[in-house]
Amino acid sequence: MSQASIESVSRESRVFPPQADFARDARVGTRQAYDEMHRRSLEDPDGFWLELARELHWFRAPTQGLDWSGAPHAKWFADGTTNLAYNCLDRHLGPSASGLAGPNKAALIFEGEPGDVQVLTYRQLHREVCRFSNVLGKLGVEKGDRVAIYMGMVPEAVIAMLACARIGAVHTVIFGGFAAEAVRDRVNDAQAKVVVTQDGAWRRGQVVPLKENVDRALAETPGVRHTVVLRRTGNPVAMEPGRDHFWHDVIESVSAKHEAAQLDAEHPLFILYTSGTTGKPKGVLHTTGGYMVGTYATSRYVFDLQPNDTYWCTADVGWVTGHSYIAYGPLANGATCMLYEGAPNHPDPGRFWSIIERHGVSILYTAPTAIRAFVKWGDRYPMAHDLSSLRLLGTVGEPINPEAWMWYRRVIGNERCPIVDTWWQTETGAMMMTPLPGAIATKPGSCCVPFFGVSAKVLREDGTEAGPNEGGLLVVDRPWPSMMRTVWGDDQRFADTYWSRFPGLYFTGDGARRDEDGYFWVMGRVDDVVNVAGHRLGTAEVESALVAHRSVAEAAVVGRPDALKGQALVAFVTVKAGELPTKELKALLLEHVAQEIGKFARPDDIRFTDTLPKTRSGKIMRRLLKEVASGGEVKGDMTTLEDLSVLAKLRADDE
Ligand code: ATP
Ligand code: MG
Repeated sequence: MSQASIESVSRESRVFPPQADFARDARVGTRQAYDEMHRRSLEDPDGFWLELARELHWFRAPTQGLDWSGAPHAKWFADGTTNLAYNCLDRHLGPSASGLAGPNKAALIFEGEPGDVQVLTYRQLHREVCRFSNVLGKLGVEKGDRVAIYMGMVPEAVIAMLACARIGAVHTVIFGGFAAEAVRDRVNDAQAKVVVTQDGAWRRGQVVPLKENVDRALAETPGVRHTVVLRRTGNPVAMEPGRDHFWHDVIESVSAKHEAAQLDAEHPLFILYTSGTTGKPKGVLHTTGGYMVGTYATSRYVFDLQPNDTYWCTADVGWVTGHSYIAYGPLANGATCMLYEGAPNHPDPGRFWSIIERHGVSILYTAPTAIRAFVKWGDRYPMAHDLSSLRLLGTVGEPINPEAWMWYRRVIGNERCPIVDTWWQTETGAMMMTPLPGAIATKPGSCCVPFFGVSAKVLREDGTEAGPNEGGLLVVDRPWPSMMRTVWGDDQRFADTYWSRFPGLYFTGDGARRDEDGYFWVMGRVDDVVNVAGHRLGTAEVESALVAHRSVAEAAVVGRPDALKGQALVAFVTVKAGELPTKELKALLLEHVAQEIGKFARPDDIRFTDTLPKTRSGKIMRRLLKEVASGGEVKGDMTTLEDLSVLAKLRADDE
């Protein structure tokens, strides 16, 4: 094993072939069919993607696929003109609609945290988007202008996004859990002219005062001309005359007719700031045509969307998953999408399962962090509900520990639903590696194989390709339609971050290995690799060994400087409901890791904790834990940390 690679210690060997009944009706129903399509997508990428693009509506059909002459800035379908909102709405209204949808089909099924339910058909959603497009026009928003959307999970958030896309304004959605400073920084960085928000959002029965946060942010955002404020919670808000407008007021006086702008394929669609697991958030810029085709195609094939599906992605619209797989991808396919406003454990930890039962959800797409929380809360919550409507499960956001995957399969999927573990990033716009549920046998913890048009490799530090099961750096070695185009306002950072590590190749920042079957296993971020007594380890595998113990719900492993070994491993562990964090358990866990992996991977220290520091998108922030573990000062950007008190607590436990 060379120093240049990351040692893999995982011994996962379970394999689950697609069920015959699922495969029979699936879009891609055999491994061979996947292989053929994938081969074709690489041999003739332009032909492959243009064909998929033509399933969508273009005002002027593209004749060009990729233009890579300005590398690393890709252009896709550059001579075509289209509109993503038109494809998500108008396309489904005509008599010869897409096949999946029709004007009276439900587009959004919204459930508020207090329990209110609202259904918007494609016709109704179209009408609301047209009206809001006219509102934006009246407020002086022009093509190319930026609009910030700082809202909770309400249909109007999706309406505002689609309205921006419809008129060619560039939205930047700011996650509703962010505080005023984070709003200010993002609004200023994007130079937004208008901010769309709401009085407050419901979260665990409490009101999150969004408008109040906006007021504080706007004290230092000279570029903002107007705000539009949706009434949701009814809490009192200050309204500045001339600047602030209630949604229900401004929507009254506009027409419900609006013609979608004909936009160049490369017209900017949105800026989204990444969640900030690793440092200062970057404004990732996506454009119209390539992103549209990428999210359309992945939604169609990976979720295997069928006319009667009720699809639910539990991510927040404030993250890329919410952009690509709540809004654009599924709507471009004419799917029925569930949208839930609140917390998974309100009023009790059975809320998700109750939603699935009552609305007949058939596809569930959620995050490992949520799955681990469900494991921690206990099986009795899902067991109390009828989940038989489910036919497909998905995950995204972090490597999923194999035991959490098995739990998802057994308790939620009743050993019947395929699981698609989808690896992708804000930067990639759409899923990059994932099983296709009817075609690819799955392995717990593996994101399996590249999607069509994707060519990924695992490299050693020196750029040579790693061998089977040898961990290394994950790169993508050819352009794909939904790839980011630049970092907003900082093109140099785009070049430096993604394109300089291996010239000509897109560097993901993640470590991975590819097994003897060609399956990819993401081992976590390269920054999180630890070096213990000559072993370079990705932390995810040690974490998975801990999570495999029946008392453990969640674990984060980081390195701390150690005079003898280079680095020593420190594990932060959360136990399941009903388990006690005792000294005896600590000893058992150390022994367990030694057994599962080997003595060298046995943590030097295990610290029990109720919660781990997470980003607001729910990802473990190992960067902060590293600093806690080494007793140093916790520095760096913390605006994305979900709960500051978690850090204070971890440090207090330390003393
Ligand atoms: P930042 O880049 O600002 O630090 P982030 O990387 O957490 O934030 P995202 O773009 O939301 O922001 O997350 C992408 C990352 O999430 C991937 O690079 C990978 O580390 C992880 N990830 C996402 N999906 C998976 C998956 N299915 N398996 C393993 N890791 C995943
Ligand atoms: Mg990232």
